[in-house]
Amino acid sequence: MRLLNGFMVGLLALVVAGQAVAQQPKKPNIVILATGGTIAGAAASGTQAGYTSGAVTIDAMLKAVPGATDLANIKGEQIANVGSQDMSFEVLLKVAKRINELLPSPDVDGIVITHGTDTLEESAFFLNLVVKSDEPVVMVGSMRPSTAVSADGPLNLYNAIAVAGDAGAKGRGVLVVMNDWIHAAHSLTKTSTTAVQTFLSPVRGLAGIVAYGKSDWYNTPTWRHTTKSEFDITNVTALPRVDIVYGYVDMPADAIDSAVRNGAKGIVIAGVGNGNMNAASVQAASRAAKAGVPVVRSSRVATGSVGRNVELKDDELGLTASDELNPQKARILLSLALLQKRTPEQLQQLFYTY
Ligand code: ASP
Repeated sequence: MRLLNGFMVGLLALVVAGQAVAQQPKKPNIVILATGGTIAGAAASGTQAGYTSGAVTIDAMLKAVPGATDLANIKGEQIANVGSQDMSFEVLLKVAKRINELLPSPDVDGIVITHGTDTLEESAFFLNLVVKSDEPVVMVGSMRPSTAVSADGPLNLYNAIAVAGDAGAKGRGVLVVMNDWIHAAHSLTKTSTTAVQTFLSPVRGLAGIVAYGKSDWYNTPTWRHTTKSEFDITNVTALPRVDIVYGYVDMPADAIDSAVRNGAKGIVIAGVGNGNMNAASVQAASRAAKAGVPVVRSSRVATGSVGRNVELKDDELGLTASDELNPQKARILLSLALLQKRTPEQLQQLFYTY
């Protein structure tokens, strides 16, 4: 009897162990596309301010993130290694096309993109409009180089990998993970030149938070993106030039004329207040728009939207209001919009939709 009991206990232990093995959750397969930035930056010492962006490879960055391989099966690809002040549409098109190639594969569950923070919001918004998948695409950077005392890159990267493997990230468009916060591409903006807590989503709020790999989800972006977006870059090799003209006291109207003369196919005004500019600039903007170079009125103010026909009669002047997009994101949308001919009404509609 004692022998039989022992046998039964042994059998039970085997069954329980078998179930434990069977219940181990499958690790997601994540591909990291590295483009450079401070997260890949290096300095000669841990406390100096000066450093070089985009100096460290993705393999070296991953070595500094203990536990990353417990979260996911990871493959890294070095697409570029630049400070994001040198990011270009050429590199962004390469990244977008690679994502669209990778995500349909059953062997890829999510993408992480390492990127500098200077232009992170523009790249995130661009990818948000041209990636054709509901699978997670998560961008990540850091404010301190990899060699700094208290570098923020390793934990940001750990969290980004966790978010990319989290089912809750699906269908929210391109996300940005920085300093424990998860931002949607439409809403985030960089607010401090140097502080670690630089990114905010001031109007729409956070998509969620992530603490040591555990995500908690708040908002689902309502603006159109990814699989619902009409923009297709499959056969696109370059984007039309769009210039941003800054608004200020006594701004010279010829800044707008010279953008047109220098080949801009579209112009975004980083206007004062509700997308305003002085009278001479309004006339120059209207002239440009009526001559076939669309002008979008955005604002240099950090929050709030630019309304159509509020202080300026956009209908008469032929101008477009950027709605909630800041100048740098309005420029991305206008560049993509200019890939095909659109009426002023259609153009305005895009700014209400994306
Ligand atoms: N200049 C750097 C870059 O954008 C700054 C950073 O990554 O934080 O690449």
